Amino acid sequence: MSSVETILVDGVWRAAASGAQREVLDPADARPLTVVAEGGVDDTDAAVAAARRAFDTGAWPRTPVAERAALLRRVADLLQRDRETIALTESRDTGKTLEEGRVDVDDVTNAFRYFADLVINEGGGRVVDAGSDEVHSIVVHEPVGVCALITPWNYPLLQASWKIAPALAAGNTFVIKPSEVTPLSTVHLVRLLAEAGLPAGAANLVTGAGDPVGARLSEHPDVDLISFTGGLTSGVKVAQAAAPSVKKVALELGGKNPNVVFADACETDEDFDTAVDQALNAAFIHSGQVCSAGSRLIVEESVRERFVAELARRAEKIKLGRGTEEGVECGPLVSAQQLDKTEAYVASALAEGAVLRCGGGQPEPGDVRPATGYFYSPTVLDRCHRGMKVVREETFGPILTVETFRTEDEAVELANDTEYGLAGAVWTKDAGRARRVAGRLRHGTVWINDYHPYLPQAEWGGFGKSGTGRELGPTGLAEYREAKHIYQNLAPKPVRWFAG
Ligand code: NAD
Repeated sequence: MSSVETILVDGVWRAAASGAQREVLDPADARPLTVVAEGGVDDTDAAVAAARRAFDTGAWPRTPVAERAALLRRVADLLQRDRETIALTESRDTGKTLEEGRVDVDDVTNAFRYFADLVINEGGGRVVDAGSDEVHSIVVHEPVGVCALITPWNYPLLQASWKIAPALAAGNTFVIKPSEVTPLSTVHLVRLLAEAGLPAGAANLVTGAGDPVGARLSEHPDVDLISFTGGLTSGVKVAQAAAPSVKKVALELGGKNPNVVFADACETDEDFDTAVDQALNAAFIHSGQVCSAGSRLIVEESVRERFVAELARRAEKIKLGRGTEEGVECGPLVSAQQLDKTEAYVASALAEGAVLRCGGGQPEPGDVRPATGYFYSPTVLDRCHRGMKVVREETFGPILTVETFRTEDEAVELANDTEYGLAGAVWTKDAGRARRVAGRLRHGTVWINDYHPYLPQAEWGGFGKSGTGRELGPTGLAEYREAKHIYQNLAPKPVRWFAG
C-alpha cells in the first residue's frame, strides 16, 4: 500500500486536509514500509459529522437486523478471502510472525460471525410485567449512536474488529482511529466493510496521532460513545476528555498478569513440560506485547529452581527474527520506544536486586535479524518481589519476573496485589484448589491449567485499572446499546394527584 488516502469520510478515501503524512516503519529493520495520511482535527470533525448524519438520517441504523447480520457475515467471508494479504500486512506492520497474523484473521472472522449470530438469535425486546392488564411495558435496546473507536498497536486488526463488529451489529455508525504505529490492517478492514455493502458514512476512518485525533474524538460533543483500548495513561486522558459531554466510555487498558504455578502441576515430567511450555508462551508470545501476557510467574517455592532453570533454557532458544521469515518464532518489538522502555525496566530490576537468568539485552544481528531492528531477547528475572517497579508496572515487553509462595493464601495475595486486573492463570492438579483460587482472583479472565485462550462468546475485560466495560460476549454487544423502557397505558384515566 502506498496511497496516502487512508482517511475515509462519508465513503470517500482522501489524504489529510493539511496534506500531512506519516511514515509507517517496519520494526524488523526500522525502514519505512509505507506512508499514510496524518489526520488532524479538521479530518476528525469531518469524520464525526459524516457518522452523525449517517446515524441521524442514514440507512444503517434503520436496516433490519437480518440484513445487518448478513453484512457482518459477508465481512467475515471477505476476511477469509484476503487472509494471506492481511496476515502479511499485520506481520510487517507489527513485527509479529506471519502465523500469528493468520491466527488473528481467523479469530476476527469468528468475532464477526459471532456478533451476526448473536443479534439474529436475540428475538427482540423484553416484555415487563407491570402488574396491570391495562399496561403494556417493554424494554428494547437501541443503538447508542456515533461511536468513536480507538485502538492500540499490538493487535490492530483484532482490537478494531472487537469494536467494529458489535458496533455495526447494534446499528451504530462509527469513526475509528487506529494506532499511528500500526494503521495498515485497519485500513484494509474498513475497505472490506464498503465492499460488503455498508452504506457510505456508517464507517469512517481517521489515521493520525493520539493527540490530536484521539483527543478530539474523546471530547467531541457529537460522539455518543467512546470505546478505547490502550495504555492506562491515555485511557485516563480519554475518560477526562469525555466527561464534560457525558458520553458513554468503555476502556480496555493494561494488565500485570499473574501466572500461578502450584508444585502439584509439575508432578510428572509431562506435567512439568506442559506448565513450563505454557509459561513460556504466556510471557513471550508477540515479544510480551500482549495486554494479558503472563509477565508475573508466581511459582511454589519447592519447584522454583527446576522450573526457572528449564524456562530460561527454553527462552534462550526462542528464534527471534523478522516475522515473515520461515522458522522465526518471535518478532521484534514494535518501535524504538518499546525497545528503550524494555531496556529501562530490565536495568531498574537488576538495580533493585533481580537475578538475570537469561536475555537482558539485544540479540546478535543475523540473517533474519537486521541490526537496525527492534529486537530484544526473552528475559527471565528471578528473585523478584512486589516492591520492584518491574513487578508493579506493565512492561509490555519480553520480560518475565519470578516470585515465589509457600501457601495457597500467599499465592492468591500475591496474584491480587496489582492495580490492574485483566487476566491470570492457576496451574494445579487439585480441582478444589483450582476453583477456590480462580474464585478469589480479582481478574477479568482466569485460566485454569491453560493460558491465553479466549472465546468470542465470553466477555473480555478487566477489574481495577484494567478498565471499564467488556468486549465480546453479550456484554460486548450491550456496550453499544441504550436500553429503552416503553410503557404504554392501554386505558388512560386522570391521575387526580392534584385536587384543583
Ligand atoms: P496507547 O495508550 O499509547 O495508544 C492507544 C491508542 O490511543 C492509540 O491509537 C493512540 O494514538 C491513542 N491515544 C494516545 N493518546 C491519546 C489521547 N490523549 N486521547 C485519545 N487517544 C489517544 O497504547 P499503545 O501503546 O498503543 O498500546 C499498548 C497498551 O494497550 C498496553 O497498555 C496494553 O495493555 C493495552 N491493551 C489492552 C488490551 C485489552 O484488551 N485490555 C488489548 C490490547 C492492548
